[in-house]
Amino acid sequence: MDCLFCKIISGDIPSQKVYESETVVAFKDINPQAPVHILIIPKFHIESLAEITEDTVGVTAEIMLVAKQLAQEFSLGNGYRVITNIGDDGGQTVHHLHFHLIGGKKLSEQMC
Ligand code: 5GP
Ligand code: ZN
Repeated sequence: MDCLFCKIISGDIPSQKVYESETVVAFKDINPQAPVHILIIPKFHIESLAEITEDTVGVTAEIMLVAKQLAQEFSLGNGYRVITNIGDDGGQTVHHLHFHLIGGKKLSEQMC
């Protein structure tokens, strides 16, 4: 399977990792939209939140905890946003589930 984020997980494509566990990895976005822009992903391939099942939903809880922890580490106490894009209309360009942790500035009031 030709998946960019699976290649980042395996190390075939380099990334600036900021967190890693048995099931989750987080790394800096290559094209940051804000001073802090981190991607948090499961280490197993799943296309998007639309594919989550009862068997895999646990990893999303871990990702939320990692988001909270990284927000503290990166001094986002004033606020931040956690986003996952799903499918074409959702603006998803990499088809491996990922959550954007974005902050470090006053974010747009527009959500879409
Ligand atoms: P999406 O639009 O699918 O929600 O987000 C994909 C994100 O992956 C984008 O913010 C994009 O900048 C980021 N991205 C794409 N290719 C790479 C890469 O090779 N390395 C890293 N670190 N981020 C990438
Ligand atoms: Zn993948």
